[in-house]
Amino acid sequence: MKKTIGWHFDNSYVRLPSIFYSDISLNPVRSPKLVLLNEAVATSLGLDIEALQDEEAVAILAGSKIPEGGEPIAQAYAGHQFGHFNMLGDGRALLYGEQITPHNERYDIALKGSGRTPYSRGGDGRAALGPMLREYIISEAMYALGIPTSRCLAVVTTGETIMRETELPGAIVTRIASSHLRVGTFQFAANWGTDEELQLLADYALERHFQADLGDQNRYLYLLQEVIKKQASLIAKWQLVGFIHGVMNTDNMTISGETIDYGPCAFMDTYDPATVFSSIDHQGRYAYGNQPNIGGWNVTRLAEALLPLIHEDQEEAIQLAQDVLQQYPQLYTQNWMKGMRAKLGLFTEEQEDAALIEELLQLMQQYKADYTNTFIALTFDQVNESELFTASAFKEWYQKWQARLERQQQTKEMSQQVMQQHNPAVIPRNHRVEEALEAAVERGDYSVMNNLLKVLAQPYAHTKEQQNYASLPESCSQPYRTFCGT
Ligand code: AMP
Ligand code: MG
Ligand code: MG
Repeated sequence: MKKTIGWHFDNSYVRLPSIFYSDISLNPVRSPKLVLLNEAVATSLGLDIEALQDEEAVAILAGSKIPEGGEPIAQAYAGHQFGHFNMLGDGRALLYGEQITPHNERYDIALKGSGRTPYSRGGDGRAALGPMLREYIISEAMYALGIPTSRCLAVVTTGETIMRETELPGAIVTRIASSHLRVGTFQFAANWGTDEELQLLADYALERHFQADLGDQNRYLYLLQEVIKKQASLIAKWQLVGFIHGVMNTDNMTISGETIDYGPCAFMDTYDPATVFSSIDHQGRYAYGNQPNIGGWNVTRLAEALLPLIHEDQEEAIQLAQDVLQQYPQLYTQNWMKGMRAKLGLFTEEQEDAALIEELLQLMQQYKADYTNTFIALTFDQVNESELFTASAFKEWYQKWQARLERQQQTKEMSQQVMQQHNPAVIPRNHRVEEALEAAVERGDYSVMNNLLKVLAQPYAHTKEQQNYASLPESCSQPYRTFCGT
């Protein structure tokens, strides 16, 4: 007997008022072909790997057939894009529904590149293969690094070409996330909904993500506080591995604290807080060093949207929200300091740790040192050769660090162990990602990508093979550039 795929949908989002979404009809594609299937994700969702490769499943993954129990919709949301407020919504994505896993977890099953929706504005609703594969690689790398993120279940090619600067092969990615509720969903409700609709959304988010016995606590202040905690933790994690999201618009910031929307993101090589990869981020609004502040800016937009629910007296509501918002910088710094101490093998806390860390970062910037590889060199005590390591200022810093390590009871071996667990041997280096995409898109050869994925799956394993993936590209005259919306 033919195996079933294993869908088990429960679509709570469509039980929200209808302003929050549009029902959509499918846009079938010419000849869908499965090019990548994430077996680990499939299994965790309770889906059958063999059945997922059948024609019926591939049609589902291509947005050409509704899965059993699915109810395709596009979500409505607004957002501040580079600081400018707009009505947005899923312009090239659809949500089939929420898969309930064998462990009773709930994941949105969403497609990207599946065609036009009522929110598409001028766009074609489609996506190109390269960027969808890129999303797959980077989100898998993030997951392996221990960073909350959406993940990709599959990528299918559509057999159609899409028009960008040139003709490109079309593709659709299936993504999972614990939800796609975002700051922009609340901004949408606050601007275009009634207070009752806003409240239903907030209650829904609380129930879906922050189940807790709240007693007579202010529920909506609690929601704000929890999102602040999640984002302070998430963005600290990004900073610690040198991840640059690239488009931290409020519509791309989740309530769950997961990273979503892998467009122009990339990992930093040389340490420099001003690093920007996105071709459209001319002002550096979303530069590496700005990400923590932008996180604060975005949660402030969430607070504004929630004000009508926080207190009926708006002056009072603002006061209450401000008290919660002001915790964000502190929470962020606590998370970041904790992670930085681990990267340097520090178990105890000393006042001067912040200065010790800052000094190292400044030296890295001054000597244009690679962020990831510097920490790896410190981890394995291979601090010779490079311009940074031979500088006398670094040698002084190194002595200070060694003295600091000696002031704690833990042994050097214990420090090294914690450093190995917090300093990745590999990140998805831009030239490695490009090489994998080129092989797949130009030649239909997925082996380069699969090898890369294998290495990225265990960033803290520190194997010999990974050393090949740690090296930097041959020097290149053009800075690396990334793009959104391709
Ligand atoms: P993003 O920068 O990916 O967060 O996208 C911002 C908005 O533009 C969202 O509403 C997207 O759905 C929409 N969008 C991006 N690319 C396209 C496209 N090719 N067609 C229609 N809408 C798009
Ligand atoms: Mg209102
Ligand atoms: Mg987006």
